[in-house]
Amino acid sequence: MQVMKGPLFLDPDTPIATCTASECSSCDLRKVVNCHFSLKQLARFLTFAIAAMIVGGYGIFMFQPWLLLGWVVGFVSFFGLIEIRVMCSHCPHYAEPGSKNLRCWANYGSPRLWKYRPGPMSTGEKTIFFLGLAAIVGFPLVSFLLNPARIHVFALVLYVILVGVGYVLLKKHYCSICMNFACPFNSVEAEVRKAFLAKNTRMKDDR
Ligand code: SF4
Ligand code: SF4
Repeated sequence: MQVMKGPLFLDPDTPIATCTASECSSCDLRKVVNCHFSLKQLARFLTFAIAAMIVGGYGIFMFQPWLLLGWVVGFVSFFGLIEIRVMCSHCPHYAEPGSKNLRCWANYGSPRLWKYRPGPMSTGEKTIFFLGLAAIVGFPLVSFLLNPARIHVFALVLYVILVGVGYVLLKKHYCSICMNFACPFNSVEAEVRKAFLAKNTRMKDDR
């Protein structure tokens, strides 16, 4: 069982809750699947997420200030609760005992209100996941486009760049080594998944 090393992240030398191995140091999967998270990974993710949130929030505020409150409530509800239920509860990290909150590279601090649910996301969960993402990311875009004052063109371009570059970096450096094989964005290779599932027997096969 994992024991916390310091206050922030799981001990990188101890197998995660779903893994049957006795130690991590000799594991070949270490470089191709990210079982343990770091402050550097979290900081990189938050840099793009917070920058996009500020620029997107600016666009909404300049369109209709009161709409910003609704977007912030939607943002927090989606990434703090809804996404956790439909997507993160399928992630091996969600199975970690000893904490009521996630300690990963993206939704750090979100509460674990449900049980670990190994296996694929249902069609309903995927639908909620994509609709929620589209609404949160798309709302600032619509606000910019409905308020085409010249000063906002720069902010609109910046928002599109932040979201676009953030997505590319996420796919390249996170989704390609993420242990949540249930996520529709996951791009871990089939052979690696097979080897990881053989060690993490509590996961259900969601190749
Ligand atoms: S698969 Fe298991 S042994 Fe290998 S790095 Fe992950 S937790 Fe450690
Ligand atoms: S799916 Fe990603 S964001 Fe969710 S718990 Fe797993 S690593 Fe964290």
